[in-house]
Amino acid sequence: MQIFKEIGPLKAFLVEKRKQGQTLGFVATMGALHEGHLKLIRDSQNDNSTTICSIFVNPSQFNNPADLQKYPRTLEKDILMLTETGCDALFCPEVETMYDQKSHLRFDFGHLDKVMEGQFRPGHFSGVALVVSKLLHIVEPDIAYFGQKDWQQFAIIRQLVIELKFNVVLKSVPTLREPNGLALSSRNARLTSAQREKASLISRVLTSAKEKLKNGTPVGEVKDFVITTLEAEAEFKVEYFEVADSENLTLLRNVTESARPILCIAVFVGDVRLIDNMFL
Ligand code: AMP
Repeated sequence: MQIFKEIGPLKAFLVEKRKQGQTLGFVATMGALHEGHLKLIRDSQNDNSTTICSIFVNPSQFNNPADLQKYPRTLEKDILMLTETGCDALFCPEVETMYDQKSHLRFDFGHLDKVMEGQFRPGHFSGVALVVSKLLHIVEPDIAYFGQKDWQQFAIIRQLVIELKFNVVLKSVPTLREPNGLALSSRNARLTSAQREKASLISRVLTSAKEKLKNGTPVGEVKDFVITTLEAEAEFKVEYFEVADSENLTLLRNVTESARPILCIAVFVGDVRLIDNMFL
């Protein structure tokens, strides 16, 4: 695998691949890689002749400096995992390379970035849109892969790509889970093994909530059930649980208001903030 820290050499590599008629698949990550990330890489490898992964812990998307500082960084192990998976290229720039001058650009996605993650992480999606724009400009992939786990992020990047006319196809990849149902996440590395076991309750509660909604239980009642069940566990604090239309993220009071509702949740387990979601 070729490793690039600078934009120029990466672009030269990509120009060469293009000349050879290769298609480019791209997976953007913040590192601390796990099988969920590798699933995106493998999907890209199935669809494209060249796969590029980026690892960049993007400061502009962290509204909480402590969260940025505590974010796990395991570059050497990540490189081994990517090499074993057969990824063709890694772009792992320094902050100074991506933000060589003070950034003034801010994004506003209307309703899409005001609810759920947007409500509790102000500025987060503006930072995501900024770094994804930079990465898409640098890599110019044919297809970019994102995980369903960050569904709101996918909805926002889709809007970004449509409005700015990026010439890229976006693919959403289903969430990979541990056998106990816990969605794989870089943040899981910060959980104790007991917390990790307990955190599987999140996906079990989402599954029960789904059944209740399918059986006609009102959204308000299901919300109470989700919050009460999770917060019965010491160390658990639900930040939000919402049922939304998966396209426009309108929050639903009744699942019949949407063709494809999605259940979204953010939960603190101790001081680790986990998110998950499931389509109805
Ligand atoms: P991150 O490094 O957390 O920014 O994630 C990089 C990409 O991997 C994002 O598109 C995530 O949605 C995706 N991803 C993270 N966890 C999972 C998972 N458990 N299954 C599938 N994709 C994931």
